[in-house]
Amino acid sequence: MNLKMNLHWQILIAIVLSVILGVASPTKYQLTDEDYETFLSEIKKGEKTHEKTLKLQALAGRNPYSETLFLRLATQLYEAPLPVKIKKSLLKNAWHNPLVNFFYIIGQLFIKALKMVIVPLILSSIISGIAGVGSAGNLGRIGLKTFVYYLTSSTLAIIVGLFFVNLIQPGVGTNIEAPEKVEGLNSAREGFGDILYKIIPENIFSAFAKQDMLAIIFFALLFGFFITKSSFKNREFLTRFFDSFFEVMMKITVFIIAFTPLGIIGLIARTVAEQAGDPEKLATLAQGLGYYALAVIGALLFHAVISLPAILKLISNVSPKKHFLAMRSALMTAFSTSSSNATLSVTMSSVENNAGVSRKVAGFTLPLGATVNMDGTALYECVAAIFIAQAYGIDLSISEQVIIVVTALLASIGAAGIPMAGLVMISVILVAVDLPLEGIGLIIAVDRILDMFRTAVNVWSDSCGAVVIAKSEGEKLLV
Ligand code: ASP
Repeated sequence: MNLKMNLHWQILIAIVLSVILGVASPTKYQLTDEDYETFLSEIKKGEKTHEKTLKLQALAGRNPYSETLFLRLATQLYEAPLPVKIKKSLLKNAWHNPLVNFFYIIGQLFIKALKMVIVPLILSSIISGIAGVGSAGNLGRIGLKTFVYYLTSSTLAIIVGLFFVNLIQPGVGTNIEAPEKVEGLNSAREGFGDILYKIIPENIFSAFAKQDMLAIIFFALLFGFFITKSSFKNREFLTRFFDSFFEVMMKITVFIIAFTPLGIIGLIARTVAEQAGDPEKLATLAQGLGYYALAVIGALLFHAVISLPAILKLISNVSPKKHFLAMRSALMTAFSTSSSNATLSVTMSSVENNAGVSRKVAGFTLPLGATVNMDGTALYECVAAIFIAQAYGIDLSISEQVIIVVTALLASIGAAGIPMAGLVMISVILVAVDLPLEGIGLIIAVDRILDMFRTAVNVWSDSCGAVVIAKSEGEKLLV
């Protein structure tokens, strides 16, 4: 616990430091002779308007400029709007910020490490979660009810998120330049049917290699399910194996996350430095992030205070207030540890002792829920992905938003119950609708605080699920 508090402070300090670093070392654009040569060699091939490109040589050796000024000058020299390819290569070569770049590389290493754990983490988290179900005896009916509750509550959460992010539109007007392939909303345009079609992998190993998350999640669900159908000996072996595998993956992830403060310095500093030449832009960015955090927290509160209590009251006739009081310590633990798994023992004891749910139902639903049922994370995934699209000025059609809803649900199922797992999973959605992965660098600044809120909602929903299912099994409860 102490360590977690420390990480909070470390991250806060890192954010402050990175803002200072970014402001103190704003990015300048200056084309040295050498840069110009590289630029030319990149552009030359197949360039029809070569004459015009050569005029950009006049930029070489001039003073450093802010991005806006540099581009304005380049456009004047080019005597026409710069073609995308030329603009990209020009900006890339003229980009100068060695200090920030040093930290940015560390940040990139951090993101790489996070990506490294995604596949094995999701695989083991889902398989061990589902396989664990089997060992709880003959729980078919309760199992079915549990899954229906999980799917319903998480989908409801995502819809609340979708509503809030479209209402508040936190990213609109932030106007970050998409670093790469703005034009490529291809996979989203493929349509929903194609995405569903691709969920079944032809070759699971190539799905692993391509980090094809939906296919991997599908395979893991199937694998976990059929472990429960295997002979006792094999079932026991595989369940233990994937439990152990998962434990190791969690430890690795927690280890990587300890580097968050160092990792985020470069990512945030670079975002700030890019905008620092232009204070107005910087203020817009900070404002965008503020609204984004508000949208997430507002939607989480709505789900926790309105949607879930409505389920409690209407379906089970349970007093939401009494249940909330019963769950107080679990919710506080979730909030302060940002980990559903770390909270699990407190959740179980609160649900059993304070809410009066039987060991049979609590012991089955809660451990599974801690990994699979994450309303808060599902909601957050949806808001974050749409915020990133808004910030990069990418319009999402209704069908693309539907894909986001479905992938957010899958991402929340796949997320492990440990701090910042949800952030790692955003890449699943970004890849599914072809949004820039760099968007993660944008939202990382406020992730830690949002993690506390979403984890509390995750645990709250697990506990509501346990109560709803216990009630439907005819149990007498204390709430
Ligand atoms: N920290 C969350 C949890 O443990 C998962 C997440 O990062 O969204 O429930």
